[in-house]
Amino acid sequence: MRRITGVALALAMAAPAVARDLPVHGKDDFPGAVRAAQPGDAIVLADGVWRDFPMLFTGQGTEAKPITLRAETPGKVIIAGASSLRIAGKWLVVRGLVFRDGATPTDEVISFRNGRNAWAEHVRLTETVIDRYNQADRRKEDHWIALAGTDNRIDHSHFEGKANNGAMMVVLRDKPLPLDNRLRIDHNYFGPRPVLGMNGGETIRIGTSTESQSDSHTIVEDNVFEECDGEVEIISVKSGADIVRRNLFLRSQGSVVLRHGNGNLVENNVFLGGDVAHTGGVRVINLRQTVRGNYMEGLAGEDFRSAITVMNGVPNSPINRYVPVEDALIEGNTVVGIHSVVLFGAGADQERSAPPRTTRFERNLLVTPGDPFKADGSTGGISFAGDVASGPVGAVGSAVSRRAVPMTRAGNGLLYPTDPALADVGAPRSLRPVTKAEVGVAWYAKNAGKPIAFGVGRTLPQVADPAGLARAVAAAGDGDTVPLKAGDYRITAPLVISHAITLSGPSVGHARLLPAVTTLFRIENGGALRLARLAINGTAAPVTMGSALIRTGDTAQTANYAVELEDCAISGLTAPAYDVIAPKAGSLAETITIRRSAFDGVTGAIVAGREEMGSDGWYTAEQVTFDHVAANHVGTIVDLLRRGNDESTLGPRFTMTHSTVTDSGPVLLDGAQSVTIASNALTRSAGVRVTHTVGYPHTAITGNAFTATPAPAIREAYWQGPARALVADNQVTR
Ligand code: CA
Repeated sequence: MRRITGVALALAMAAPAVARDLPVHGKDDFPGAVRAAQPGDAIVLADGVWRDFPMLFTGQGTEAKPITLRAETPGKVIIAGASSLRIAGKWLVVRGLVFRDGATPTDEVISFRNGRNAWAEHVRLTETVIDRYNQADRRKEDHWIALAGTDNRIDHSHFEGKANNGAMMVVLRDKPLPLDNRLRIDHNYFGPRPVLGMNGGETIRIGTSTESQSDSHTIVEDNVFEECDGEVEIISVKSGADIVRRNLFLRSQGSVVLRHGNGNLVENNVFLGGDVAHTGGVRVINLRQTVRGNYMEGLAGEDFRSAITVMNGVPNSPINRYVPVEDALIEGNTVVGIHSVVLFGAGADQERSAPPRTTRFERNLLVTPGDPFKADGSTGGISFAGDVASGPVGAVGSAVSRRAVPMTRAGNGLLYPTDPALADVGAPRSLRPVTKAEVGVAWYAKNAGKPIAFGVGRTLPQVADPAGLARAVAAAGDGDTVPLKAGDYRITAPLVISHAITLSGPSVGHARLLPAVTTLFRIENGGALRLARLAINGTAAPVTMGSALIRTGDTAQTANYAVELEDCAISGLTAPAYDVIAPKAGSLAETITIRRSAFDGVTGAIVAGREEMGSDGWYTAEQVTFDHVAANHVGTIVDLLRRGNDESTLGPRFTMTHSTVTDSGPVLLDGAQSVTIASNALTRSAGVRVTHTVGYPHTAITGNAFTATPAPAIREAYWQGPARALVADNQVTR
C-alpha cells in the first residue's frame, strides 16, 4: 500500500494533470514548494508580512505552462526586513509582491540570477512593488532590480523612493552573463527618487562601459518616470541597440543619457518638465544614435541636462570616457519651453576636443522665447534641414529657419503648430502619452511620499517653558508648528527632530533659547527644522570643542532634510569651534535657507558643510541660501566641500544676497557647482574663496562691496585656462 502511494505521488509530481496551487504559510515551507513546483503550478505566498525572508526561486517552466510565484492576494503580501528574491531558470513568473519596511541584506533586492552561472530566461516580473526599501546608510550601495539573462520582462510594477546609493534597476552583462539580453521593461511606474548627492542615483542603467560595445536589445517602453531626481542620468544606456520609447517623464531632474554603446533609439517619448529647474531630455554620445519624434515641454535644465544635448567626445576615447558623436540622427522632435536649451558640443574641454561629426538635425521644432541653441564647441559636423525655431538662433545661424509658431493644445494634451505648413516639423501628432493609470498596479498609491513641508500641519498649543518645549517637539508631527511664548528657555538636553517641525517665537527676539548642551537640535532621519522669530544665545553652553546649534544624528541617514532660519538672532556661540549648522557625513540637506537673520559672535561656521572628506564625491548640502543675513564676528560664514571628480551632481549650490559680513572669516566653496554672491557688503573680513573642480561650475560674484576685504579668489583645480567665473561690478576698497 505504501509503495503504491509512493508511485502514485511520484507520477503526480512528474506530470500533474492540472496546474496546482502550492500554498506557502511559513518561510520554511518555501524551498520545498519551489522544489515541488511543476510547469503550470503556482507557489502562493499567504497574505501577511514576511520578515527577513531571502527567497530563491528556481525552476523550469514552459512557454505554455510557466511556474508562478505569487501573492495570495496581490498587494497583501508584504516582504519586509532583511529580505531578497533571487530568480533563475526558465519561464517563471513573479506576481503581486510588495517589498517595503526593510532593505536587502545583499547588494540586490530582486535579482535575475543565482550566483555567477545561473540566470533567468523568459522570466516575467509583474505587478510587484518596491517602496522605499532603503539601506539605513545612504552611502551603502545596492540595486533594487538586477536584471540578467535573456528575454525577461518587467511590467506593470511600481518602484518608488530609492534613497541610498546605487542605480535602482540595472542590466548586468558582465561575463559570463549573456550580452544579447532582449529584455522588455514596460508599463512600470518609476516614482520619485530624491537627490542622492553623488553619482549612483540613476533609475535605470543598462550595462556598464566594459561590455558596452555589444548590443543588449533592451526595450524600455510605455513607462512613467515621475520626479526621478537622483542625479544627472535617469536612464543611463551603456550598451548597444537599446530602445527607449513612448515613455512619459514627469518633472524629472535628469536625462536619458546614451552614455556608452552605439545604435540606440530614443523615440516618441514625452517629457513634461513643468519648468522645474534641472529637468532634462536626451543626451547623445557615441555612434549612430537616433533621437526621433520626442516631445519636450517645460524642460528647464541646462548644461548636461539640456532638452537635447550633443556632447563633444574624446579622440580615441578610452571605453569609459566619451566616444565622439558620429552619424547621429536627431529629427522630428518638439522642444517647447521658456527655459529650454539645445546644447551642441557639451563638455568641450582639453580632453573632450572632438566635436560631433556627420550628424543630422532635421525637422525639429524649437519654440522658445530666446535662442534655444548653445554651443560649447564646433557645430560644423552637424547638418541642419527643415528645422524651425521661434526665437533667435545665434549659435547655428541661418541653418534653422526662424518664424512665429503659434501653438494649440491637441486632444493628446500636447502642443502643435496651428500652421498646416508646419505639419511635418516637430513631434508627430500620433503621440499618445502613457498615463499613470496605465502603469504600475491599481492597488498601490503612486507618489505617496511626502515632500519636506513646513507649516502645513497643526499648530500646537503655545509652550512657555523648556519642559513644555521638549514635550511639544516630541509630540509634533510632520508640518506641525510649535509656538513659543516670550521668555528664556534654558535647554539642558538636545531637542530631537524627527519630523518637519517649525518652532516660532511671538515676535523677533522675544523668545530666547539658551542651550546648556553641546547640541541644541539633533535632526534624525525624516526630520527637518524651521526656526522663526527666535533668539538663541550660546554663552551658557559647555566650553568644549565642536558644539553646534543644529546637527544631524550620528547614524547616517536616508531621508534628505531641510533647515530654515527666518528672522532669527544668533549670538554668543563663544565656545571653541561652535557651529550653527553642522551636518554630519552621511546626511544630505536638500536646502539650508537663512533669511533676515543675524549672527553675532560665532566661533565656528554658520554652515559647516565639510564633513564628507572621501573622494567618491559625497557632500552634505545641495542648496544653501543666505538672504538678508547679517554676520558679525563669525569664524567662517559657510564652508561647503564636495570632493571627487564625477559630473553626476548639481550640488552643492550656494546663493548669498543682500547680506552684510563684518569682522568675519571667509566664505569657502570647494567643488560647488553653482555660486551666486550678489549685492552683499563684506567688511574687514576674509572674503570669498571658490575652487572649481569638475562639471559645469556656474559662479557669479557681482555687485558686492569688499571693504578692507580681499577681492574674490577663484581657483580652477583641473580646467586649463582663465577661471570660469563672472566676477563683475564689485567694489574692492582697501
Ligand atoms: Ca551616473
